Amino acid sequence: MTEKILSGVPASGGIAIGPAYIYRREGISAPRRALEPSEVGAEVDRYKSALQKTRAQIGEIEGRMKAKLGKEHAAIFEAHQVVLDDPLFGEEIPKSIHERRLNAEFLLAEALEKFQAAMAALDDGYFRDRGGDIQDVADRLLKNLSGGEKDHLKKLDREVILIADDLAPSDTVTLSTEKVKGFCTDVGGRTSHVAIVARSLSIPAAVGMRDVTGQVKDGDLVILDGNNGLVILRPEPQTLEHYRRLKESHEAFLKSLEELKNLPAVTPDGHRVTLAANIEIPQELDEIARHGAEGIGLYRTEFLFMNRETSPTEEEQFEAYRHLAVKIGVNPAIIRTLDLGGDKFLSHLNLFHESNPFLGLRAIRLCLKRPDVFKIQLRAVLKAAAHGPLKIMFPMISTLSEIREAKVLLNQCVQQLKKEGAVFREGIEVGVMIEIPSAAIIADLIIQEVDFLSIGTNDLIQYTLAVDRVNESVAYLYDPLNPAILRLIQMTVAAAHKAGKWVGMCGEMAGDPQFVPLLLGMELDEFSCSVSVIPEIKKVIRLMPMKAAKEIAAEALHKKDSQEVLKLIKDKVPADLRTILF
Ligand code: PEP
Ligand code: MG
Repeated sequence: MTEKILSGVPASGGIAIGPAYIYRREGISAPRRALEPSEVGAEVDRYKSALQKTRAQIGEIEGRMKAKLGKEHAAIFEAHQVVLDDPLFGEEIPKSIHERRLNAEFLLAEALEKFQAAMAALDDGYFRDRGGDIQDVADRLLKNLSGGEKDHLKKLDREVILIADDLAPSDTVTLSTEKVKGFCTDVGGRTSHVAIVARSLSIPAAVGMRDVTGQVKDGDLVILDGNNGLVILRPEPQTLEHYRRLKESHEAFLKSLEELKNLPAVTPDGHRVTLAANIEIPQELDEIARHGAEGIGLYRTEFLFMNRETSPTEEEQFEAYRHLAVKIGVNPAIIRTLDLGGDKFLSHLNLFHESNPFLGLRAIRLCLKRPDVFKIQLRAVLKAAAHGPLKIMFPMISTLSEIREAKVLLNQCVQQLKKEGAVFREGIEVGVMIEIPSAAIIADLIIQEVDFLSIGTNDLIQYTLAVDRVNESVAYLYDPLNPAILRLIQMTVAAAHKAGKWVGMCGEMAGDPQFVPLLLGMELDEFSCSVSVIPEIKKVIRLMPMKAAKEIAAEALHKKDSQEVLKLIKDKVPADLRTILF
């Protein structure tokens, strides 16, 4: 079979080459897993009990159908029972488990595929129907098998490229980068949760590939090009060679950036900005010093609430935040209060089903509705801030009253802690995210209530342009350089500076090297981005004179569309930087 190129949305840079591992979050999954000799017996038992369960289920449905609709309507399930008696299910699969030492679902899916191909070749109506029955029965059996083995991803025994329909936050936070060398998903946009996690984990990724799970088979050799959002299936030898060379030079470029680790983020003409890290999962804390970050501009707290049935206690949260406070030393870390909702859903706190979760009870809205949950977090942060320079930041602010309400709750926590005689920080700095257009428009009013602002472009772009950030069908409209976005950024920066306060950006736009010259010129005080891109962003800052950056910013605000802005950046950056960026 020939080479095939599939394209989607680039999510995390770099190149990975290896065997595909297909994972379906919804529906049926049959990835291959090698068994130790000692596991074989248990695998056969697992398979046999799934077979028994399937038989019982079909029997039960058959009985119900008979009672409700009569014997003739139940005939199909009678046929299914007969299918289950086929030697394929009862004898061949257990035999293969013994002989080939592979997991049951993989062998079943493989046998089925061969069988279906043979049936299709017969071109006979009767056999086609039997083929459908066998598929139905096998699907049911596969579901029963995978139901008992939900954590496929945790059991990976080899290096793979993960090819998934979608990955839930609960899947991504536990992903092993030792085994998963890159991943791509059918769904998603550049700032969907999975894409952000890929950058946090520093592994190549592409999202919004539409039907990659339908096109790639388990074990196929694939190249994942995270820079361009491509998957190359069954590559020709010369393509493989080309990508091996690209991979090497990309890795050499990253290595060359290591020398910047201890240097400041300062432009050649002496303008200094803060370059901080976004932390998505706690393991990243060990990476920040190695990548030369000066503090943490966004510490996402959602991971603490993932993969569990109940919310974390005050003590658990305190421990996590205290660890953060101690780890960062003198540099400040901004803890963002809980931002659940949107694509960062969580069953035990979701109060009811919403048809538009991104416009629903998300983030600060959910926290203000559930002060019991919110105050536990606020108390934990206040106590941990006694151990290091922590700040607090509220997400998804759309009105002044939300800030005031949140501050009332924060103050109640302060009073309570005082009464209890607890050790805590009293005058903690409070900021908000500017990620909803209404907040950017009234940034001059908002800044009167807080100590700092941080622009969250992931949501600001989504809400300003009405483009769902996780929907691959509209990903082409998700445009950070749209003049409307630039104006909102400019208004926010101007409002903060007029009030003599600082403003940063923690959305993914701040971590895109091509946008840095413009954002520098717009006078952001802090850039906060994924740990993996910090060295590259620092390199751009250190090559970009502030004088030229300011010219770009001034002119960009008069451009009519993003192509014009991009061309302006390309024309105005120094030549050595142009070769890196374009
Ligand atoms: C943002 O919206 O830009 C942001 C940083 O927050 P999140 O991606 O977590 O919504
Ligand atoms: Mg956001």
